[in-house]
Amino acid sequence: MSVAFHGAGFCWMNGEVIGTERALVSAMEPIHLGIFEGIKAYVENDVNGSGSLNVFQWKPHVDRLRRSAAVCGMKIPYTDEELLEATRKTIRANGFKTNVYIQPRIWPKAGAPGEVHVVIPVWTFETVLGKDNLQFSKNRRFMISSWRRIASDALPAQAKTWANYGNSALALREATRMGYDGAIFLDNRGFVSERTGACIMVVRNGKVITPPVTASILESITRETLLKITPEDLGIPVEVRDIARVELYASDEALLCGTGGEITPITSIDDLPLGKEYPGSVTKRIAGYYADIVAGKAEKHKEWLTPA
Ligand code: PMP
Repeated sequence: MSVAFHGAGFCWMNGEVIGTERALVSAMEPIHLGIFEGIKAYVENDVNGSGSLNVFQWKPHVDRLRRSAAVCGMKIPYTDEELLEATRKTIRANGFKTNVYIQPRIWPKAGAPGEVHVVIPVWTFETVLGKDNLQFSKNRRFMISSWRRIASDALPAQAKTWANYGNSALALREATRMGYDGAIFLDNRGFVSERTGACIMVVRNGKVITPPVTASILESITRETLLKITPEDLGIPVEVRDIARVELYASDEALLCGTGGEITPITSIDDLPLGKEYPGSVTKRIAGYYADIVAGKAEKHKEWLTPA
């Protein structure tokens, strides 16, 4: 129905698939205390085609959903299997045969202590991955935000709570106002943290370096995936350590990684172009391999896929 649901006619809410126009709650709901998850299901064999779908890293996403809920004092009244079945039913009800984004949302029910609403919207998206995808190589100019990433002693930076995204929205608005494509946060100590909705990795002298979880980043599933496949399958060394702002400017390549944004190169930061070629060769290799994995073409990592 509406634009807000990205063209999806059906979602799952509190136990049943319903028309998205019926997914209504009272304006009295405490939605600011909500949590959510961002998950993707890709078309098998060709991420730019259509056909059967596989959810990527279902279990780590559901585990993080439960951790986010626990941090906020909520319990999810459904098993992993029930949530998966709910997701499958919603995809089926919508008749989707191309890549879909799945965004379970949970928040406390107004006036019902201990009870929560669980909603699973799904909608289609266009991937930047896949061979010769022009979207992958487009220019992406970033700035260092004047807003610091929320400190984890103020809000649970490592969890996926809606409240965290007020911080991201302010940084993104500032960047847009100033003519950039997006913003990179420093943490409250002044070290590189992450983008407003993705993690960052830099390439320096053939090594991939990314900030630690203690740099107020979300515990990213894509980052975790890349930390495994980059050294083990591509033979490129990785290092998890704090990154100083100046190292960003001096990097050979920088990439962003996340479920929503997938894997994308960064052209410049604060108008300083990175490296000699764009996109850089390490970024291209990682993104190409990631595209194969989500499409089920990497035999070794098929266990990360769950039929939708
Ligand atoms: N940081 C933030 C703030 C995010 O919103 C996201 C997207 N979920 C990420 C990092 C990347 O996390 P993931 O790889 O689990 O999608």
